[in-house]
Amino acid sequence: MSFKNIRGNEQPLEIIKRYLKHADTSSSRSFLFCGPAGIGKRLAAITLAKAINCVEATNDACDNCPSCLRIEQGHHPDIHFIDDSDSGSIKIDHIRQLQKDMSLRPYEARKKVFIINNAHSMTAEAANALLKVLEEPTKDSLIILVSSKTALLFKTIISRCQIVKFYPMQRTSLQEILIREYGLEPDKAHFIAYFSEGRIGRALSLKDSGIFEDKNKVINEFCFGSPGFNDLQITDKQEFRAAMNILAVWFRDLYLLKSGLAAAQLVNLDRKDDLLRVVKSRSFPEFDEALETISTSLLRLEQNINIKLLLANLSWSVKN
Ligand SMILES: [Zn+2]
Repeated sequence: MSFKNIRGNEQPLEIIKRYLKHADTSSSRSFLFCGPAGIGKRLAAITLAKAINCVEATNDACDNCPSCLRIEQGHHPDIHFIDDSDSGSIKIDHIRQLQKDMSLRPYEARKKVFIINNAHSMTAEAANALLKVLEEPTKDSLIILVSSKTALLFKTIISRCQIVKFYPMQRTSLQEILIREYGLEPDKAHFIAYFSEGRIGRALSLKDSGIFEDKNKVINEFCFGSPGFNDLQITDKQEFRAAMNILAVWFRDLYLLKSGLAAAQLVNLDRKDDLLRVVKSRSFPEFDEALETISTSLLRLEQNINIKLLLANLSWSVKN
């Protein structure tokens, strides 16, 4: 992906493009890309690494040259990606390796780039080690911290980075992109744009996931008594949590509709008639009761109660 193809995030991308124009002489040696998860921070960091080192395009990535292709495939010797996927945290060994790689001359890149994804998951030891690195930057390296939870980062680390904030898009703009550029049906595009709360990265990862069809099965089972949970094969905790999240959003729609919210703001706009039907026939205390059931189920899930049993109780308790 090149910057010219990235949608949304105009403000942060403007800062990045300005940096690119003066990357050789810029005093910025470290960035912090922050904002909610699934919003395009990591993609912007990788695109920046490409754009600095692209041999074809100027101040952007061409996505075709050997440098861009190797970065895309994760095989570029000068572009380092550090994250917490191994063990849930970024440890001091990761940062020691970073220090070592930083001390070497680039193999072929104009600038070595170190992307620290989920930087908030650094251990205190790792954060202290990184702090020393940030205090003594090298000219031919750029560090990009990516984080959706900056409250967990050391303030001393934040203060040594140029902060670039990413924001969700307007839901309606995201909806238009999903229709125009990805060919989604308007109903589905609306649901995904609103369900992902305007986060384009999240929306793109959801668009082919079958969530639009699945969410209606979950809602049908829960509120309208047509069997659906069995078809859905909810067998693990993650799937169960996802189903409960769909129901929580459904009830958010019900609460807001009953409180007089404009229907266009509904997440489940495709089910507007059903929502209106439920709103007319059910009361706020009944919504409270259903939500209570959902949260209790989630609690029991964490206590390792059998998922089938939880689903059976869930349908039963709400239908009656
Ligand atoms: Zn290129």
